[in-house]
Amino acid sequence: MALGSDGVRVTMESALTARDRVGVQDFVLLENFTSEAAFMENLRRRFRENLIYTYIGPVLVSVNPYRDLQIYSRQHMERYRGVSFYEVPPHLFAVADTVYRALRTERRDQAVMISGESGAGKTEATKRLLQFYAETCPAPERGGAVRDRLLQSNPVLEAFGNAKTLRNDNSSRFGKYMDVQFDFKGAPVGGHILSYLLEKSRVVHQNHGERNFHIFYQLLEGGEEETLRRLGLERNPQSYLYLVKGQCAKVSSINDKSDWKVVRKALTVIDFTEEEVEELLSIVASVLHLGNIHFAADEESNAQVTTENQIKYLSRLLGVEGATLREALTHRKIIAKGEELLSPLNLEQAAYARDALAKAVYSRTFTWLVGKINRSLASKDAESPSWRSTTVLGLLDIYGFEVFQHNDEECLRPGEATDLTFLEKLEDTVKQHPHFLTHKLADQRTRKSLGRGEFRLLHYAGEVTYSVTGFLDKNNDLLFRNLKETMCSSKNPIMSQCFDRNELSDKKRPETVATQFKLSLLQLVEILKSKEPAYVRCIKPNDAKQPGRFDEVLIRHQVKYLGLMENLRVRRAGFAYRRKYEVFLQRYKSLCPETWPTWAGRPQDGVAVLVRHLGYKPEEYKMGRTKIFIRFPKTLFATEDALEV
Ligand code: ATP
Ligand code: MG
Repeated sequence: MALGSDGVRVTMESALTARDRVGVQDFVLLENFTSEAAFMENLRRRFRENLIYTYIGPVLVSVNPYRDLQIYSRQHMERYRGVSFYEVPPHLFAVADTVYRALRTERRDQAVMISGESGAGKTEATKRLLQFYAETCPAPERGGAVRDRLLQSNPVLEAFGNAKTLRNDNSSRFGKYMDVQFDFKGAPVGGHILSYLLEKSRVVHQNHGERNFHIFYQLLEGGEEETLRRLGLERNPQSYLYLVKGQCAKVSSINDKSDWKVVRKALTVIDFTEEEVEELLSIVASVLHLGNIHFAADEESNAQVTTENQIKYLSRLLGVEGATLREALTHRKIIAKGEELLSPLNLEQAAYARDALAKAVYSRTFTWLVGKINRSLASKDAESPSWRSTTVLGLLDIYGFEVFQHNDEECLRPGEATDLTFLEKLEDTVKQHPHFLTHKLADQRTRKSLGRGEFRLLHYAGEVTYSVTGFLDKNNDLLFRNLKETMCSSKNPIMSQCFDRNELSDKKRPETVATQFKLSLLQLVEILKSKEPAYVRCIKPNDAKQPGRFDEVLIRHQVKYLGLMENLRVRRAGFAYRRKYEVFLQRYKSLCPETWPTWAGRPQDGVAVLVRHLGYKPEEYKMGRTKIFIRFPKTLFATEDALEV
């Protein structure tokens, strides 16, 4: 831009141009705040400039850049420490610091809720937050290892709970809520993880283009020769039926070999002994061996195991009798009139029993792992008086939404319930709820049609239709009694902790998946209720997992169901901006000769002088007890612009 005689005007224009280019850093400042198009335009401008963070007041909106922006260094952390939200460009670390300071000064528990669809960046955000606290908080007087443990629990949980899906190469297949405990000096002294609903069906089946959980490939790629020999494993993932269904053992963005090294080291940090590592890997290997068990039908159509080698390895790795296992895989124990009968299984039933065992072994090991990590993270100061004064900061990394479509096909399997009967049960339980719709209920309430086997939840700002097809299979927990018995006899210490004999004598029916899910959600709601919430809303910019691509339709959809326009409306309903007197004065005092360079009196009086000098009209602002409230963003714009002149 040419320099005109009016130097000031030119500078103001260039300031405006800069804002045109990068948009506003808080959506609240949008002139046309009710317009979705204006919202999208602002998001797009910033994304183009690699500015992935924007506020809606205190809510942070984040768009996954799919590239390393180098914005999470130690210097970045320092930049955001102790400064006010509005003085620095929006960043996840600003949220991290604000939350931490609130925890320290108000001594109130906090929770950062991170939401967004699969691949939007929830887990990355969680990790960055954890890193921020681990690096910037003071070290505790005792038990400094907890910081390493907090960080190292992640690669382990991800190895066992994350997998490559079509949407995300590192998709979390379980929900995670993590507490970090701080002592009265603000040092992290402990932690606790709550996991829910691991997608265990992935252990035995993956869709095309997807993988099983990372750990299997890591072990095969990275495991030492000696280890693999002991486990009876071949390096090639193609040799294992549980790993070939998705036909994509290799993923360009994943280095299983180096990930293995990270996981192996992390296990030691979180207190695994060498024996425990061996036991854990024996279980991982036994899942692969289970998948390779084949059956053939005898003349009476009863299933017989034809792969003796697998039985041999399983028997050794799990510490169970080979004969017992073979029998349990091909028979079902029935107790009739106090007598035990063995009823042979056909081929289909035996395959079902085998897969159910693999799923149970894996998912229970996952639960055990979370327990093990929790023991390692448990504050060693629990008994000391300072324990009582700990405060808690929670990080919630919720599942990606899955909106899937199916041609509504009913498939029956040896289990009792079918997906449709599950839907009926669901219907019975929640049909009164105004936000729940099914095929049967849809006609009565709206004209919108729904397929059989679909249900629709009316979320905060939009409807999402779910299909129940495969729902039960994904979550089914039915394990025949004699397989349970066999596992209870396991000499592998981890397995014997996972399968408890009490379970066999327990008369009451095991909880259904729906009940378990409801209980864990209720528990979570309880935990979150007592905490001050902060929100991070993650957006996925495209389905191709590529940098620089801003898919308008995809993003608008997320803006809708994340309820962002609604958030914005609520924030704008009152005064757009509120700032503490000290902060306001500090930032703008240079604009008025009476307050510059220092104002000796009360900050509130200084602000009064300042805004009078700036020509604020009475209707544009209000003086609160500790803060100035500004009604229109344009007032603040003008003041900001004046600073730049
Ligand atoms: P899911 O629900 O499937 O677990 P998610 O929301 O947890 O998804 P992430 O695993 O956090 O998604 O992110 C997916 C991928 O996107 C990451 O593996 C990483 O490659 C990239 N990504 C996410 N956030 C960022 C970021 N802030 N900077 C750079 N890359 C990112
Ligand atoms: Mg995730």
